[in-house]
This record gives sequence, structure tokens and C-alpha cells, in this order.
Amino acid sequence: MFTQNLHTHSTFDDGQNTLEEMALAAKAAGLTSIGFSVHTPMPYESCWTIDSAHLPDYIEEARRVKAFFRGKIAVFCGAEWDLYSAIQPTGFDYVIGSVHHIAIGNALPCVDSSVEETQLMLSTHFDGDADMAAEAYFCQYNALAKVEAVGIVGHFDLLTKFDEQRRFYNSDSPRFRAAALTAIDALIAAGKIFEINTGAISRGYRTTPYPSRALLTAIRERGGTITISTDAHRAEDIVFGFTQAEALARSCGFTEIWQFDGTGFVPVLLKDK
Ligand SMILES: [Zn+2]
Ligand SMILES: [Zn+2]
Repeated sequence: MFTQNLHTHSTFDDGQNTLEEMALAAKAAGLTSIGFSVHTPMPYESCWTIDSAHLPDYIEEARRVKAFFRGKIAVFCGAEWDLYSAIQPTGFDYVIGSVHHIAIGNALPCVDSSVEETQLMLSTHFDGDADMAAEAYFCQYNALAKVEAVGIVGHFDLLTKFDEQRRFYNSDSPRFRAAALTAIDALIAAGKIFEINTGAISRGYRTTPYPSRALLTAIRERGGTITISTDAHRAEDIVFGFTQAEALARSCGFTEIWQFDGTGFVPVLLKDK
């Protein structure tokens, strides 16, 4: 099994356990390293991110936990930085770049709130044209690709979170696919690593990870790289779906998973089952 999880949340944002509890769970699950990836502050008040005033506390506590577990499990202090975050992605060991919104004029609707909000967003801003929403969503990755601090692309096709049954989006439609592929090409050209993220499975929204098999295959064919993470919001989900994610990676033709070594990203062999 892959032995690192860089995408985890805690009581500093919308997670349920402390940093120390998350590290303890990671060690108990057999991981050799864990990264904390706090949701960075947004320009509006939000219940799912840390606020700017508490960022120094987060960094200090991560440092304490890192020292506490020295010699037992490596601990990294990262961030899940949103493209529209109110802060710059600096001061972290590594950065996962995510896009949780579609910017439409002054509006910034979330794509991962609920089925109802997805429906409302599509009718209010896109006249029900889900392909147009997908084009607007994926187009934002061109900006993300230009952010040098971002190493990993978080849950690339997040907009399908509530849509495994394809009630809203048709990921096989030429417009959806073209928009996704353009974003993939920009991100690969910029050297970003795509995560296979099992977070929507542990929370009961999906049965398969992001990105979809079709997009992962395209990423592999275009020379892209991957890592695996669980986007865990609870200690018990620390390695949730790792085996499934590895199997998916293997079946899409990947032979390596990339991991953070404290200074940069290096490939490790994706072992046979
Ligand atoms: Zn996210
Ligand atoms: Zn996350």
C-alpha cells in the first residue's frame, strides 16, 4: 500500500480530529508520513476553512506534532489552497491547489455544497447548460497551473461530486471532455501532480474516486503524474479507499505514484497487488 497521505483535514478547519489524532491514526494505519492540508481562508466568511487569525496556531501546532512524532512518522505542514483563497500559498511545506467554485462575475458559487445548490447554480448562472458550467469550471485551472507553489491538483473533477448518476453533467459530452482535456494539458505542462482522491466515497457521495477513470486514462496518456490521498476529515478515514485508488491507478496504466519527501516530489513504484 502507498504509505503517504498528504490530503487531511482537522479541527483547524472542517475536520473532526486534532492534528495529533490524525498523525496517530496515520501511524497506526502503517503510513510512514502524513501531511496536514488545512483549507486556507476565503475572501468571505466560511465554516469550512481556517481563518487568517488562526493560521499561525495551525503552523505552530503542526510543528509541535512533527517534533512529537519524530522517528515514528514524518509529518508535513501543508495547505489545501483554493484558487480564490484570500491568502497566498506561501509558508507551507507543500500545497494542494483546489478549485471549489466557479467565478461568475461577482458571484462565487461552490460546486461541492449539495445537490440543491448544484441545481440552483446551473439554472441561475448557466440556464441549465451543464456543459457551459463545466467549461467555466475547468477553464479556471489555467490560472491554477500558473501558481508555482501548487504541487498537487486537488480533486480535479470535483463538480461531479453529487453526480455519479449523471443527473447534471455528462462527462462524455464533447464539450465537457474538451474543457477537461485543455485544463489537463495546462496542468501537465506546468508539472502539477493529479491526486486520486477518495474523499467523496468515505462521505457517502460517490462509489469511485476523483478523477474519473476516463480522465485518469487521459492524464496517463498525456504523460501526467498522480498521487493518492483520502481527503480525510476524520481519523478513521485516514487510508479509506487507498486499495481502491491504487487498483484504479494500475488499471489506468500508471506504474508510479508521486510522494513528497520533505523538499520535493519523487516517484515511487506502484506495486502489484
Ligand atoms: Zn477540497
Ligand atoms: Zn480537502
